[in-house]
Amino acid sequence: MNYSEEITTVRQKLADLNAPPKPLEHTVYEEVEAICDQHGVFKQRCRRMALHGKGIETKTECQFCLKEKLTQLEHAEAEQEKQRKRSKIKMLMDNLSPPERFADVTLDNYKPVNSYAARCLTLCNAYATHWPERLKRGGGLVMCGKPGTGKNHLALAIAKHIINAHQSSTLFTTALRITRAFKLTWSKSADCSEAEVIKRNTQPDLLIIDEVGVQFGSDAEKLILFEVINTR
Ligand SMILES: [Zn+2]
Repeated sequence: MNYSEEITTVRQKLADLNAPPKPLEHTVYEEVEAICDQHGVFKQRCRRMALHGKGIETKTECQFCLKEKLTQLEHAEAEQEKQRKRSKIKMLMDNLSPPERFADVTLDNYKPVNSYAARCLTLCNAYATHWPERLKRGGGLVMCGKPGTGKNHLALAIAKHIINAHQSSTLFTTALRITRAFKLTWSKSADCSEAEVIKRNTQPDLLIIDEVGVQFGSDAEKLILFEVINTR
């Protein structure tokens, strides 16, 4: 249900009531005291006109009822927006599906082991904070370090931050997975094209490629990774 149209209508009715009555030709205008079941006496604006021999009368509603209705509608709209955002975040988190051991990582719970790691954390925090500009410019991050230094922790924490804050789409993958998917398209029985593999890896707002250079990459593998990164 879309509340915005109804909200606009009620706001307009209230604005009209707050302004002096507009003069309308061929109508008889009258202000009377009417009774609202909820709010008692209120000033009601009535207009009467004759149309094709029939009398038509319009009466304004109780302004307190209108105000209450507006509050309810705005509340319902805000709730609906919150719900929409929650389900989008859930869908994006499901897509990211970080490995089990990284399920709870955040930028706040990264414990730097030395000053160099602390500087990396600062850089990652800045990357996450300035995400909209980074996305616009297509700026990436290269994380180098020995296994166990927290590269995945930081990368996945950035991904979660931008999902929560901006509902951006992300993909967590490995260099091997990308090249394997690419090579699978070369077989005759392939059900997916190279273009589709490129698309799958270039569509997400943030792509995290784990384990780059873990294996000695062939020229073909380097070319595939270049293709993905260059397209992005
Ligand atoms: Zn009322």
